[in-house]
Amino acid sequence: MTVNRNHFKRSYRNLPQWDCPTCGKGHLIVVPEKTAIEETGPSKRAHGHDDWDPDWIVERFAMLMKCNFASCGEIAAVSGDAYFDVCVDVDEEGLYQQKMVRHYEPFAILPAPWPIRPAKKTPDAVKEALKTAAALLWQSPEAAANQVRQAVEVLMDAQKVKKRQKVGGKPLRLHARLLEFEKKDATNAEILRAVKWIGNDGSHNGGMKREDVLNAFDMMEMALSNLYDDTTSEILKKVRAVIKSKEKKPKAKKVSNGKGQSAGAPISNSTTQPTNPAPSGPSPAAAKHSSPSNP
Ligand SMILES: [Zn+2]
Repeated sequence: MTVNRNHFKRSYRNLPQWDCPTCGKGHLIVVPEKTAIEETGPSKRAHGHDDWDPDWIVERFAMLMKCNFASCGEIAAVSGDAYFDVCVDVDEEGLYQQKMVRHYEPFAILPAPWPIRPAKKTPDAVKEALKTAAALLWQSPEAAANQVRQAVEVLMDAQKVKKRQKVGGKPLRLHARLLEFEKKDATNAEILRAVKWIGNDGSHNGGMKREDVLNAFDMMEMALSNLYDDTTSEILKKVRAVIKSKEKKPKAKKVSNGKGQSAGAPISNSTTQPTNPAPSGPSPAAAKHSSPSNP
């Protein structure tokens, strides 16, 4: 997965239904009756200016959004500026009509939607730094990039990469720590070095684009998935368990048959519950156990 760019644009005609940052299952939906929009005083006073144009209008908005996943109920507060664009539409009679279209520019979302989903086993300190970065993204790409860099720093702590060259020595800079990390994990060290460079750029105000930060989020997601997502190995464990239970047991049956009467016990789990011989037919569980004979 990469960041859904449509959910992290600068302005919207309609706010997107961000993924709920709390449950990750639902989406945030605007609560219409909990929406306030008002033109600012300076904007109102500017109407008297000779050159006034509708695109001078500045409004502030505040909205509540609610997660639509039934058992979640998370509420997010969104606020920012609203302004108008003048569009030209052609009406039914073919005449040009000017239309004012309001755009919302969010500056704060609490709690902020996650641009990425860090792997479940990602250390909390790394998640916290990324969460802060996600919140800052709406106000300052520089500050957000810096926080993503901070996530790399705490990730190095979690990976037990040394902080100093020697005990009592000078602290190692992040770049030096990443070179240390490279000795054990070249692929992820390279990804994280790129994130660090984007974060460094964030330290120098100006010139940082939101897209640069979103790229850094994509890179972090990839590194965290490589390091902490054990979905593949967990599924493989289950695969092996199924193969073992379905394919090895018939073999065991053949071997144990040669031993005579004691053979029954290790073959079928159902025989370990002799109080329930189930003469009227096998239970669903027993039926499962019997399936190895019908592969
Ligand atoms: Zn939710």
